[in-house]
Amino acid sequence: MTDLTRRTAAETAAAVASGEVSAVEVAQAHLDRIAEVDGQVHAFLHVDTDGALAAAKAVDEKIAAGEELSPLAGVPLAMKDVVVTKGLPTTAGSKIHEGWRPPYDATITRRIKDAGIVMLGKTNMDEFAMGSSTENSAYGPSHNPWDLGRIPGGSSGGSSAAVAAFEAPLSIGTDTGGSVRQPAAVTGIVGHKPTYGAVSRNGLIAFSSSLDQAGPFGRTVLDAALLHEVIAGHDPADSTSIRGPVAPVVAAAREGARGDLTGVRIGVVRELGGEGYQPGVLASFEAAVETLRGLGADIREVSCPHFGYALAAYYLIAPSEASSNLARFDGVRYGLRVGDDGVNSLEDVMSLTREAGFGAEVKRRIMIGTYALSSGYYEAYYGQAQKVRTLISRDFAAAFEQVDVLVSPSSPFVAFGIGERIDDPMAMYINDLCTLPASLAGTPAISVPSGLSEGLPVGLQIMAPALADERCYRVGAAFEAAVEPLVVPRLVGVTR
Ligand code: GLN
Repeated sequence: MTDLTRRTAAETAAAVASGEVSAVEVAQAHLDRIAEVDGQVHAFLHVDTDGALAAAKAVDEKIAAGEELSPLAGVPLAMKDVVVTKGLPTTAGSKIHEGWRPPYDATITRRIKDAGIVMLGKTNMDEFAMGSSTENSAYGPSHNPWDLGRIPGGSSGGSSAAVAAFEAPLSIGTDTGGSVRQPAAVTGIVGHKPTYGAVSRNGLIAFSSSLDQAGPFGRTVLDAALLHEVIAGHDPADSTSIRGPVAPVVAAAREGARGDLTGVRIGVVRELGGEGYQPGVLASFEAAVETLRGLGADIREVSCPHFGYALAAYYLIAPSEASSNLARFDGVRYGLRVGDDGVNSLEDVMSLTREAGFGAEVKRRIMIGTYALSSGYYEAYYGQAQKVRTLISRDFAAAFEQVDVLVSPSSPFVAFGIGERIDDPMAMYINDLCTLPASLAGTPAISVPSGLSEGLPVGLQIMAPALADERCYRVGAAFEAAVEPLVVPRLVGVTR
């Protein structure tokens, strides 16, 4: 591995801006790295060599012309394949989108391009972002760079694997129920789910519209913060986009890195721990809490009594919204079309296309969601789940009267083996135990590496009130500065 792929995004941006290295050299180093290791990692579904080099060249030309650069200009990024990219394949991990090249850019794609960030390609994911392992991708799983026999988390597992394997310093994930935080945790990197509405959903292929939120991955808290500030901000094309200033997350990351949390009140959520959690994860979490105490934080135990119902509520609300959102994939407008032989009726074509185009988990979710929304059951399932959602938001509100942030493990488990849980939906769903409350409440949360258990990364989750994303970054950066950096994923050729 060359030095160029080892650097953080902040370091790379500074090196490009100062002329120490060109953006084209940086892009080429990462493309070489992808060529070297992605056969094993399978983080990417599509590598856009020409587009990346052209974008890098444009940055170098700006530098030559003496133009002002944005803070991440020339830094490579891997984009989750659920975010639409003009002219580039966008599959959402599904066969049903095969061959589709979107005619437009998502708002975040546009912002990333406008910032001079160099998009290397599109990353693998669970189909329509449904899953925790990338095993639900129609294009085969991604592999965890720490142990290629294990999952890199999901649904944004290609994005987490790309950053953990030094194929890109930055990537974009989306988090509906934990799909940025859990993959970050199990690959030993940083991932943040912004406050719902902080980042535009325009051009995100929708899974569950009231929960979906794109967020940044990086190997440091500062890198994630720099990318957060690029993608966040009001967008008139998304009706749920927040009007108002972007949370000052870069300043918060810099302040946090000074390592002083004196006076910060941190609540340990009693309900997110104990039975069902791996002992190594719990030990790492306890050590993390002691580290935070050592930084001057005021640690308290806090109870959020309804968090235990988050899983049941989420797995009604998300499939319900998905069953409605996925109705648009009917073989008429996008990608795959099956059975169009002039004999089959239009209805048959739609049904044959959906039968062939959707994988098993997507079909399961559509069936659960359709059932939960059907007349006679609506109140009993969807209605009840929405009430639980309100109770969870109230738990957060009550907790944030006592403390500034809440902490928990990011996931009950370290990365598990590929194939180990794929046949047991419940075993897969419980990966989301820690991340779902913040998803349902629309509140921000970050996962920061908190050490190793049996040689595999563990994540610390830091949750803040809505619109206070900067608290996640401040506490996360202070914690990061206080712990040993993770070392040497076992992937061939990775040395750090
Ligand atoms: N694992 C969760 C699910 O399968 C969350 C996915 C996500 O956040 N996109 O729904």
